[in-house]
Amino acid sequence: MAKAKKNKSTRKADIANRMPLKLNPKRLDPETSDEAINVLIVGVGGQGVIMVSKVLAQICQNLGLQVKQSEVHGMAKRGGVVFSHVRFGKTVWSPTIPKGKADVLVALEWAEGLRWMDYLRPDTGIFITDTKRIVPPFACRSRILGADIGYLKDTPDDIIGKVAETFAIDATDMAAKEGNELAANTLLLGALSTTLTFSNEVWREVITQMVPPKTIDVNLSVFDKGQKWIEGSRKGEPVEGSAFIPLVQPEDHPVRTTLSIIEEWCKGCDICVKMCPERCLTLNKDQVVELADPEECTGCHICEWLCPDFAISLNPALNPPPNPIVQEAVA
Ligand code: SF4
Ligand code: SF4
Repeated sequence: MAKAKKNKSTRKADIANRMPLKLNPKRLDPETSDEAINVLIVGVGGQGVIMVSKVLAQICQNLGLQVKQSEVHGMAKRGGVVFSHVRFGKTVWSPTIPKGKADVLVALEWAEGLRWMDYLRPDTGIFITDTKRIVPPFACRSRILGADIGYLKDTPDDIIGKVAETFAIDATDMAAKEGNELAANTLLLGALSTTLTFSNEVWREVITQMVPPKTIDVNLSVFDKGQKWIEGSRKGEPVEGSAFIPLVQPEDHPVRTTLSIIEEWCKGCDICVKMCPERCLTLNKDQVVELADPEECTGCHICEWLCPDFAISLNPALNPPPNPIVQEAVA
């Protein structure tokens, strides 16, 4: 017998409710801990991994703690792997976190989070991750509509239970709804803040200093959302932003979607133009991408997934507008 399909809100509630619940967990306290506290932050270039680690390190410095931070961001500009180790406490020796010793793993990209999970402490490690998926170009080589995407198939359901606590948050989507999807990293800072003893005031003060002045309000707002998300899921309440939509290209995908290009964010890098399977994108005279051949666009999402500057997005194909693909330039 075919299983009844769950609607999106039911799935959200399911995922939240299956989280291991600790209503009043003991927060990590660097003032009383004999060992350094280890937070590993991972993601890909352009997501703000370094900003997260700098906020954390700055708070530690302001509070007079010893803190060491080491990072790799050589490929940061165009979607390469970025990670940062932050260790803090009364005394810190090595700047890097050994495998199995991270207290908290904060992942800004789903697959990167899974790749680093063995750095978490097996019994007490806390995994906080955005469910945002950025598919690397080599995973999109097949041009056949409906072809398998070479990207990890694991869902939050598959990993819950492998570490002490897992919080899989659709942070990018939640930040976008607040007006700036690039603030997803601050939303995860809000989630991280619930695992440490630092006061809200010190978090908010340092975030205010570190983000561009025009984005202070949205960053503080999503910081609160991240905190509330964790509190809600610990109580087993249905929370916004938990849905995990499988990465598949259905063969009967209706070619009815809207492609939006934020012209100000497009750096003209040409990645989407080169990787579009249907060759329907082009750079205009201002070196900004355009949908040159809307009839050919299959709505495969590859341009959206590959753009390192988040300049392209497609409306969900599950809710198609009445007209065929159109380009909306968002100023
Ligand atoms: S969604 Fe993007 S990559 Fe896919 S066919 Fe359309 S323009 Fe090309
Ligand atoms: S839309 Fe993104 S991937 Fe395409 S040219 Fe602009 S910055 Fe590059």
